[in-house]
Amino acid sequence: MDFTDIAKMFDRLESTSARLEMTAILADFFKDCNPDDLRSIIYLSQGKLHPDFYGVELGMADKLVLRAIAFTSGTKDSKVEEMWVKEGDPGAVAEKLIGTKKQMTLFSEPLTLDRVVKGLTLIETAEGKDSQDKKMKHLANLLHDSGPLEARYLCRIVTGRMRIGASTMTILDALSIAFATKEDRESVERAFNVTCDLGLVAETICRSGIDGIQRIQVTIGNPIKVMLAERLPSIGEVVSKMGGECAIEYKYDGIRAQVHIGKDSVKIYSRRLEDLTPNFPDIAQALREHFKGTEAIIEGECVAVDAETGYMQSFQEVTHRRRKHGMDDAVKEVPVRIFMFDMLYVDGKDMTTTPYLQRRSALTEWFDISDNVQMSTMRIVHSEDEGEEFFEEAITARCEGVMAKSISDDSIYRAGSRGFLWIKYKKDYQENLTDSFDLSVVGAFYGMGKRAGKYGALLMASYDPEIERFGTVCKLGTGFDDAFLDGMPALLDGYKTSKRPSSLDAKMIPDVWFEPHVVLEVVAAEITVSPNHTAGMGMIKDDSGLGIRFPRFTGRVRDDKDAEQCTTVQEIMEMYEMQAHDSTGIDE
Ligand code: ATP
Repeated sequence: MDFTDIAKMFDRLESTSARLEMTAILADFFKDCNPDDLRSIIYLSQGKLHPDFYGVELGMADKLVLRAIAFTSGTKDSKVEEMWVKEGDPGAVAEKLIGTKKQMTLFSEPLTLDRVVKGLTLIETAEGKDSQDKKMKHLANLLHDSGPLEARYLCRIVTGRMRIGASTMTILDALSIAFATKEDRESVERAFNVTCDLGLVAETICRSGIDGIQRIQVTIGNPIKVMLAERLPSIGEVVSKMGGECAIEYKYDGIRAQVHIGKDSVKIYSRRLEDLTPNFPDIAQALREHFKGTEAIIEGECVAVDAETGYMQSFQEVTHRRRKHGMDDAVKEVPVRIFMFDMLYVDGKDMTTTPYLQRRSALTEWFDISDNVQMSTMRIVHSEDEGEEFFEEAITARCEGVMAKSISDDSIYRAGSRGFLWIKYKKDYQENLTDSFDLSVVGAFYGMGKRAGKYGALLMASYDPEIERFGTVCKLGTGFDDAFLDGMPALLDGYKTSKRPSSLDAKMIPDVWFEPHVVLEVVAAEITVSPNHTAGMGMIKDDSGLGIRFPRFTGRVRDDKDAEQCTTVQEIMEMYEMQAHDSTGIDE
């Protein structure tokens, strides 16, 4: 297949923000693809060569890409850099400089999909001290035979920032339309939720239709999208929502880990599908040693404990394990324990469709408990009083709250979904009007006075998965210490874009726009209806969205979350309702 056809399809996608139109463009295109090509096209559309959890990124720095553009187009480095400062996107620079004068010579080769994949693989695997030069030359080689449009997308793929707006959900819609029926959409999504591999789902449905999709199973080595919890404002409501009886577990304040114990190796994935195994080698080894079977997938929370007292430490402590270097020291200095709370697979048996209590007893059967491999503390409660008592115990044990879990027959593990089978209740709910928010940075305003020349405040957004768009909720200027203010450009500038990101609705115009990527934890005093913000636009009042007042950064960068995993508009709406209900309580 010609890469030009793929680039044209990307361009058509980019020129619309209407989800239905994007779905139609993709479905039309997918129908004519062969299964192998389709798999690669899916990864490329996300700026990758492999599924997210693969762990290897193309990740070429902008400056290196600029060198390849300068080299291919015969333009001075300084001129290319000047254009990049203006455009904020190497893809836009490449489009202006590459393929304009006809570069095709006798030595040109057609730019096929195969050639692009081979070239990108060379970039990905280049090693040694001259690896940067090699990457630059491999890219230049592809750019040499590119037209402007192909160049735009090649440069975006190698930097991992595609910006074509086609989300995973839109791609799943398009696959269902192209190769199955509307009714099969749920099965297609389930196949993705249990494999986290969009390319695999696409290739399977293209090759074997919906039957193939239904045969896709939980597999060791393919992370499963995590199940998430709803929230309610009081233990009483939690117990009654669960039908008067439920399990309640301690809610540990650590890092969620999904552990795949294979025949030959153990892998630990974060909820964002990063490979955390190098950060928790002791936990990987302990789980292997204490597991009585051959293969398993389990979930638990990794929590730092005080080396002397054994007390649980706050989340900040376990983040010391997320460093890249000096892991041997970190393992000694920051002892970690895993509190297991779920079992999703064991020796050939998919446990995700088994009710919660059976999954939990399977965990206790298959694992020996030790100092660093423990079960989460759990009790079955039958009343608000029993729930309150357990909650107090959890707080005394230094947990942040409790997780209630349904014990009904349908309490299966719902991969990738947030629902009332699990409900969280945190200490913070008693102290603040709202839970904390995880919001995505989409813009920055230059500071004044002490903050002159730096980013002084950030424009923050929440995500609406129903319409697949981000909407702003607040301008955040409080809670930044000097180190964070100084580090902001390094954290954010890789996502700078010259215009409002296509997936964002905003009324406020910041000095600098960012593609949604970085997620920060924010606390606030109140959720209000705001004419200045666009999240949940029109849900409560025409032409107004939901805003959050007096927001303050807690100091926690949620690097375990993707932008789409930030607090959703629907969750903020629920919190707004919780807050309204709370104030009615106070007034009475
Ligand atoms: P969410 O995961 O719901 O989007 P979040 O990451 O901000 O939000 P919380 O809202 O505080 O975290 O709670 C959910 C998280 O709690 C889980 O993802 C998991 O990491 C953690 N957790 C701690 N203890 C448990 C437990 N016993 N059962 C399930 N999850 C637990």
